Amino acid sequence: MTVMVDIRSVHKSFGSLDVLKGIDLQVRTGEVTVVLGPSGSGKSTLLRTINHLEKADRGEITVDGAPVGYRRSGDRLHELPEREVLRRRTKIGFVFQNFRLFPHLTVLDNVVEAPVSALKRPRAQAVEHAHRLLARVGLADKAGAYPAQLSGGQQQRVAIARALALEPRLLLFDEPTSALDPELVGEVLDVIRDLAAQGITMIVVTHEIAFAREVADTVVFMADGRIVEQGPPDAVLTAPREERTRAFLAKVL
Ligand code: ADP
Ligand code: MG
Repeated sequence: MTVMVDIRSVHKSFGSLDVLKGIDLQVRTGEVTVVLGPSGSGKSTLLRTINHLEKADRGEITVDGAPVGYRRSGDRLHELPEREVLRRRTKIGFVFQNFRLFPHLTVLDNVVEAPVSALKRPRAQAVEHAHRLLARVGLADKAGAYPAQLSGGQQQRVAIARALALEPRLLLFDEPTSALDPELVGEVLDVIRDLAAQGITMIVVTHEIAFAREVADTVVFMADGRIVEQGPPDAVLTAPREERTRAFLAKVL
């Protein structure tokens, strides 16, 4: 099996605050990795370094074989120019806790925007694809609505359709259901579950333990900038080896 994301000894500090203290993680192509951990443990920073939004101070990340932030020539690494960073970022979908839809655009235009502006797709083709994606997330009838007219769960499903519009090799979810009212969580998890079943590689930061148990191939527990424990969901969630994992699960379950 090939590796989609390969993270080696990644360190990241903000000033004197060490946020990632040596992260090693491999995500295999087609697999779902769920990342758990207390607030402040570095989960978002880890996703952001994978997506070229933060630069690791030390260590290396490769996505789909390409080093994040660098181009390799021979055995030397050259820093990437900004337009190449943007190009590589388009291959990674990112779904945020707070949706971040464009409020002044319709649902359809939210999904159409990136393929047209970033990938230079013909608009008619992007529109046709967007309609299919909206159907896939159960929102075929909302194409003409504005984000403010939708529930949080619907907005997050639009955000997922928007991420899919770039046909990413990898999808990153940062607490995709944390901002939702409890009754809206299920509809978003259903969509993510469908994507997982279709074999899209993803890393999902979430506190939804039942979802992790059902969908994850690997569960990673992070605390204080380190991976404390990782393995199949049954092992990590049912019989954690580490006391810190047990203490965390006792709080969220
Ligand atoms: P998590 O997602 O697990 O809650 P984060 O990765 O968001 O954790 O944050 C880890 C730590 O890094 C926190 O203490 C946070 O305040 C700090 N942090 C995150 N981003 C920045 C930043 N841009 N500048 C300074 N500190 C940051
Ligand atoms: Mg976070």
